Amino acid sequence: MRDEKSTRIEHIGVAVNRIEEALAFWRDALGLELAHVEEVADQRVRVAMLPIGETRIELIEASDTESPIAKFIAKRGPGIHHIAVRVGDIRTALARLKERGVRLIDEEPRIGADGCSIAFIHPSATGGVLIELVERAERKS
Ligand code: ZN
Repeated sequence: MRDEKSTRIEHIGVAVNRIEEALAFWRDALGLELAHVEEVADQRVRVAMLPIGETRIELIEASDTESPIAKFIAKRGPGIHHIAVRVGDIRTALARLKERGVRLIDEEPRIGADGCSIAFIHPSATGGVLIELVERAERKS
């Protein structure tokens, strides 16, 4: 990777029916700390972030029945939804993928949780794993 310093697993997205119920396992039983809960209107979801080492678990709950998460759960049930990879510069990353003919869900970055720039890569191009690229809003550690 050209961007070794900033590239890492930003978070693992887990689709859940209800965040409050999922916290009974992730927070109460497993012992992770709940950093924050946030509504991402653009994606029709509520997300809860729980730091775990250098990365985070992102619990994702649909905020209406048309949400992509509602459709995912209806089809496949709750479970791992995506892996988010942090990149230093999301436009450069998207350009590189496009150049290689990788099928993208988002050709242009949009704003996700925490005010980050995000874009999804189509699972048909990745061997079945939905990948989210994330560029942090402020500091790029
Ligand atoms: Zn995510």
